[in-house]
Amino acid sequence: MTPRGHLSRRHFLAASSGALGANTLRGQEAGDDPAPDGRLAIDGGPKAVRESPPRPRRWGEPERERLEAMLGQDSLFYWKGPQTGLLVERFREACPLEYVMTCSSGTAALHIAVAAAGIAPGDEVITSPVTDIGTVIGVLYQQAVPVFADLGRNTYNLDPEDVARRITPRTRAIIAVHLAGNPCDLDALKALADEHGLALIEDCAQAWGARYRGRPIGTIGHIACFSLQDSKHVTCGDGGVVASNEERYGPRLQRFGDKGFDRLGSSGLFESFATNYRMSEPQAAVASAQLTRLEGIAARRARLGDLLTEGIAGLPGIEPHAVRADDRCTYWFSMFRLRPGAMRCDRAEFVRALVAEGVPATAGYIPLPLYGNPVFREHGFFAGRWPVKELGLTTMDYEAVSCPEAEAILESGVRVAIHEGMDEAYIRGVAAAVRKVASHYSA
Ligand SMILES: *Cc1c(COP(=O)(O)O)cnc(C)c1O
Repeated sequence: MTPRGHLSRRHFLAASSGALGANTLRGQEAGDDPAPDGRLAIDGGPKAVRESPPRPRRWGEPERERLEAMLGQDSLFYWKGPQTGLLVERFREACPLEYVMTCSSGTAALHIAVAAAGIAPGDEVITSPVTDIGTVIGVLYQQAVPVFADLGRNTYNLDPEDVARRITPRTRAIIAVHLAGNPCDLDALKALADEHGLALIEDCAQAWGARYRGRPIGTIGHIACFSLQDSKHVTCGDGGVVASNEERYGPRLQRFGDKGFDRLGSSGLFESFATNYRMSEPQAAVASAQLTRLEGIAARRARLGDLLTEGIAGLPGIEPHAVRADDRCTYWFSMFRLRPGAMRCDRAEFVRALVAEGVPATAGYIPLPLYGNPVFREHGFFAGRWPVKELGLTTMDYEAVSCPEAEAILESGVRVAIHEGMDEAYIRGVAAAVRKVASHYSA
């Protein structure tokens, strides 16, 4: 056992944050540009980047004020709850949609969307294989079939041409995942959806505050889904919102999040079947306060991510995150790709060198495209079984699925953390570090 093994987790964290503090002092002497000798930090040279500024405190007065108001209520139930009402109002300011249902997670929002869209057993839903598994959990629970399409080389979003190739008579919907806050090509996807009578569901979990051709993300497709999970731009720990302007789908959102119970109806009879995905007032209190912070967070991240892209543009061997000039990406992260064969090192070494320079970099995103995971390869979704396949409603074989670009993205991507505590000087330092490491390893 190493000495560290004897330390409690708390001691270890304390010890490592002490070390971070020391680095901060040393790091401040490092400028924005590579040292004249260009020696990598990993080889003992000076670090290119000062320590990352901390992420600002995420909760404070606005949240306290809402929670205080909530404590005066005699009910914490969502229906007609004032915190939920305020959350819905503020959500509509960011994403003007008529029908809005708050719920317990982004996964819940997506499940509600799929159910409200009338997706039935054996129906096919086309989506990205490079996303949070929550994108497809609801599809599978409705006994429908996720069909994975390939991605754009540098947008990491659905390639509409490959989506078109995967449409069959069983296709009922497309779930467009705006990965990392970068808007999908919604005009092309909407055209496909209209042509084939499909529902277009937007997974905006990573895209709070993003804009597509100037329009708020979530307002182009038929149903929009957002997550308020802790890692997202705004959060109440866990939560979600699902919303729509469509008369076909919108009125169903409440029922599918609330055990099939129609709170506007009077009969009390169940006409639809659903689970309980309700969000309670404490979450809504925090989430409604968080939305007052959204525009500041989104604008800062958009600016910083674009600045990083500019700073590493034109380097041989590096392909930056591609965002259309008339869109606003709100960078849940930024990810560039290493062009195969362009470096004299593999990705792991490149990332190690970046980290040594002080860059908050990690290799890739999820380990494998969703279809590469054991539960998909074994078709073992329900106690090891998959009823729709056993019943002959689908011939899907996830072992045979191939999305070459998606696989290459996960193998060559280098993810850089972006957050609203960072400033432009810091990001220029990060770009300088990438340039330094890339020029060192350029073949
Ligand atoms: C986080 C996330 C989800 C799921 O949201 P939860 O609130 O964690 O259930 C779905 N899709 C994407 C793209 C996500 O990033």
